[in-house]
Amino acid sequence: MVVSVDEKCLRLTDESGENGVLLGMRCRNCGVCVFGPATFCQSCTSPDLEEVELSAEGTLYSFTIVRVPPSGWPGPVPYVLGETELPEGPHVLAEVIDCAHDDLRVGMAVTLALETVGMDGIEGSERAVYKWRPA
Ligand SMILES: [Zn+2]
Repeated sequence: MVVSVDEKCLRLTDESGENGVLLGMRCRNCGVCVFGPATFCQSCTSPDLEEVELSAEGTLYSFTIVRVPPSGWPGPVPYVLGETELPEGPHVLAEVIDCAHDDLRVGMAVTLALETVGMDGIEGSERAVYKWRPA
């Protein structure tokens, strides 16, 4: 089994595809941290950035229930799209799973959940995706 991953955003810590950490870039000049790749700081424009591992726990900053998914969406509909604020500062947008819609609350604690999904047309290949679930 081959598990692929967006290596700028997520680092797997074993071969299951279900354990890993989110990656971000922190500015050595002003300390601002962003999720995913960056070539310069969005705050002070310094190019002096370092890669950092981000917390697996955050708080739900905002959410919406998606009833009309983007084309090719592989999961059930409707689904919850949540924006999670991490302690380091970045906001990370991803599906929220394992939570009844009535139980969703802004400010609730959520934790990173990795899942693997099959890749269309490529037998034996999966892709690791990150989601949030109630902590
Ligand atoms: Zn900066």
